[in-house]
Amino acid sequence: MSDVFFHPCPKPVKEVKEKKFYHFKPGKHTKANIKANNELKDVLVDIENCEFRLSGCKGLSMGLQNCHRHKRKWYYSKPELLYDRKQVLKGCPACHDATEYNRELNEQIFMRVRGKE
Ligand SMILES: [Zn+2]
Repeated sequence: MSDVFFHPCPKPVKEVKEKKFYHFKPGKHTKANIKANNELKDVLVDIENCEFRLSGCKGLSMGLQNCHRHKRKWYYSKPELLYDRKQVLKGCPACHDATEYNRELNEQIFMRVRGKE
């Protein structure tokens, strides 16, 4: 009897995506982002509430995220702007989501809160 029949079906091995390990092997842009997030803690240290205040915003102070004025790509050639106060707002997850794909609204809010870049 072949013992192949006695082996249980192997569990499917979950494919480990390489990006899961990015923090061990950060690329150039990831490094810039990590640095930016660290710097931003100091730059936006006085901001404790969501700055977007869109309708439906609860002004949560928990889980605030750094929301950038432009898409990441925009900063590739000028990474120092990633932690420029005029380029970042703190936003609650709801507002961040709402502006992430609405660049026009995003820019309007930046103009209102931070002024011209
Ligand atoms: Zn909000």
